[in-house]
Amino acid sequence: MQEIYLDSAATTRPCRAALDAVTAAAEEYGNPSSTHFKGIAAKRIIDRARAQVATALGCSEERLFFTGSGTEANNQAVIGAARAKKRHSSIIVSTDGEHPSVEMPLRFLEEEGHRVIRLSTKGGKIDPDELRNALTQKVALVSVMRANNETGALYDIAMVRREIDTSGCGALFHCDAVQGFMKTTDRNALVRNCDMVTISAHKVNAFKGCGALYVQNGINLPAYILGGGQERGSRSGTESTPVLAAFGAACAEWTANRDRIEYITGLRDYTENKIEESLGDRVVIHRPAERICGILSILLKGVKSEVALNLLSSEGICVSAGSACSAHKKESRVLTAYGLKKSEIDNALRISFCYTNNREESDMLVALLKRAAGLTDRNRI
Ligand code: PLP
Repeated sequence: MQEIYLDSAATTRPCRAALDAVTAAAEEYGNPSSTHFKGIAAKRIIDRARAQVATALGCSEERLFFTGSGTEANNQAVIGAARAKKRHSSIIVSTDGEHPSVEMPLRFLEEEGHRVIRLSTKGGKIDPDELRNALTQKVALVSVMRANNETGALYDIAMVRREIDTSGCGALFHCDAVQGFMKTTDRNALVRNCDMVTISAHKVNAFKGCGALYVQNGINLPAYILGGGQERGSRSGTESTPVLAAFGAACAEWTANRDRIEYITGLRDYTENKIEESLGDRVVIHRPAERICGILSILLKGVKSEVALNLLSSEGICVSAGSACSAHKKESRVLTAYGLKKSEIDNALRISFCYTNNREESDMLVALLKRAAGLTDRNRI
């Protein structure tokens, strides 16, 4: 059976450079903390990976800390920054559309006595007035994601930065950029606007179980995992040299191929137009004002997500209902926040693209969506 993978917001296929890097680095099995030549060789691989990821993000190598996942980086940033700024304020401002790896630490902090103000993300936008109101007091932390993993909405982080600066609220600004990293044309905007930025390797064609946190100079977050003091004391645990090497190699490819964004945007628009043409009023396409190139969020009227998903999967096409993370939950907090009713959420589909996809794959998807919507029978495709 053919395989058409249109679920790159859940995870991406590792690129050839990442596969080559992981194999080569696996041979350098020394412990990067060892001072003999095997250790030095492994350390060199990690230094190179750090340089490649830092270049991709546009930050200095000294301020980039590897972590065991995007989830871990978000936990460290949110809990660490809130605790570090506790004497300044116990108020945190975030949104109602954050990924669980930010939302759950926020709930944990609420139990510790912090107050969390969640800005609305209705329609995929943050209202500057609502943000301004929330910042008329001392605030410890503002945490706003760059791109939403379920709707594809891009939030205006430059606006958030301006509001923090003009308010004088004294907050640190953290951004979960797991979906946005390398997928917008102004890749330096993250480091330019934010004090802390989370990224994850498996969303940029490297491997799962690997992430990084950028922390601006002068900010000292408490270590989250204690032990041997790796990552300059920020994250203990012997580094996975091969996985980091792959992260670096995949980032270097994204840095060298900036035209991927244009390609992915073109493919998304092509697919969107085809879906609209072919399914007419049987489909609703969500178009947040600003959105990330690779995510298309739709709903098929009268067709439950799992029915469409199973049909597509049986024909070799992978998409998801909402997000992979919320797939096992009954409702989507994020799609509710976006403004969808429960009956609409039940029919939501997320189609997400990578530079490896093509128009033939989109055509196949559209033909099967038509079948799922009952517009063609099995024999016609
Ligand atoms: N933040 C967002 C927006 C995500 O989409 C994800 C993963 O889907 C994460 C954080 C978590 O990253 P990781 O899978 O590396 O833990």
